[in-house]
Amino acid sequence: MEKIAIIHYHEIALKGKNRDFFEFALIKNLKKSLTEKNYEKIERLYGRVVVFLKDGFAKDEVSERIKNVFGVANFSFGYFGSLNLKELADQIFDHLPNKNPVSFRVTAKRSDKSYPKNSQQISAELGSFLIEKFEKKTKVDLKNPELNCFVEILSKETIFYFHKQKAYGGLPVGTSGKVVSLLSSGFDSPVASWKMMRRGAKVVFVHFHSYPYTKKTSYENVKKITSELNKYQFESKVYFVPFSEIQKEISTKCDSSQRVILYRRFMMRIAEKIAQDERAKALVAGDSLAQVASQTLDNIFVISEAVKIPILRPLIGENKEDIIELSKKIGTYEFSSQPYEDCCSLFLPKFPETHANLAKIVEMEKKLDILSMVSGAINKMEIWEIKNSVNC
Ligand code: ATP
Ligand code: MG
Repeated sequence: MEKIAIIHYHEIALKGKNRDFFEFALIKNLKKSLTEKNYEKIERLYGRVVVFLKDGFAKDEVSERIKNVFGVANFSFGYFGSLNLKELADQIFDHLPNKNPVSFRVTAKRSDKSYPKNSQQISAELGSFLIEKFEKKTKVDLKNPELNCFVEILSKETIFYFHKQKAYGGLPVGTSGKVVSLLSSGFDSPVASWKMMRRGAKVVFVHFHSYPYTKKTSYENVKKITSELNKYQFESKVYFVPFSEIQKEISTKCDSSQRVILYRRFMMRIAEKIAQDERAKALVAGDSLAQVASQTLDNIFVISEAVKIPILRPLIGENKEDIIELSKKIGTYEFSSQPYEDCCSLFLPKFPETHANLAKIVEMEKKLDILSMVSGAINKMEIWEIKNSVNC
């Protein structure tokens, strides 16, 4: 029998006519995530995707890589072949993870409705073959079995497996369009970006830095964070935008308490320009309501007003502990907890505004040449790209 990984998905199946589009995207992403040394081919078979694995495939690595492909609801390692039910029972018995379970059941499903037996009949028949093989030492328990033998009957072929592993679900990256995410070196924005990817968005990153006025640590951390996040989207691009000229201009001409709001408005304007070039339809930021001074509703209102493009804030209703918990799960915690000098720590006011006033900010911005400040930064930005890493 051939060794396989069988991939199940929920939401994709719900998408009606778009089903082909979603399944192709899922397969394309699985191919990008899995290295060729581990698999022969990946095929669509009756509402599931089957990865045919090579002999000696690296199970832990394959498992990790499949889990990171959004759209996968759960998956299992199992076996595939053309067998009748008696032969199938023999094969199941030969491949049991435990030869002496206290109890077992067979959970069969047929995808080919022209198959002469229904799911219950298949389960019952396989069950009785197996009882014989267990020499009646193992009893059937439909409710809470120690061993569950999952069987799927396709057209001529059958699949069986014993464990289901949960993945992240969501939608394949690339199926929901593109967004530009403002990525700092902190905890929140990497998690916000990951959540957008899980909903099928391709994420392009932009990071603002004040190098050489601050150390290069945020720059280096952002590269490491992006490499972690790249495990979920397989190709990533970061725009590194020098921000110190803008900060200097703002701090010499504007009221110090308003600096952070003004910085953020410029970040949004630059990110909007990048989004236009990238044909991205939204920006993403890691704000969570009232978490810090810049994230009060008044400030969010004034910051958002600087641009027309929608700003998505997937963490707006999350608590910090939950965000940190998730950053540990997705792999960005280690890099987000590194000390870094944020560009906003440069010229930081003692008493930042928590209730920004739009009219006041617009008045203050009249002292600034917004267009040339934005284009000055854009002309000096650098692009860094990364493709899927070979090792997990
Ligand atoms: P994070 O943990 O993402 O740094 P934070 O809680 O520190 O967020 P702020 O510093 O107020 O919050 O930043 C709010 C959002 O603005 C960030 O989540 C991020 O999307 C964006 N942002 C802040 N600083 C930068 C930066 N240097 N480059 C790119 N985006 C930034
Ligand atoms: Mg921050």
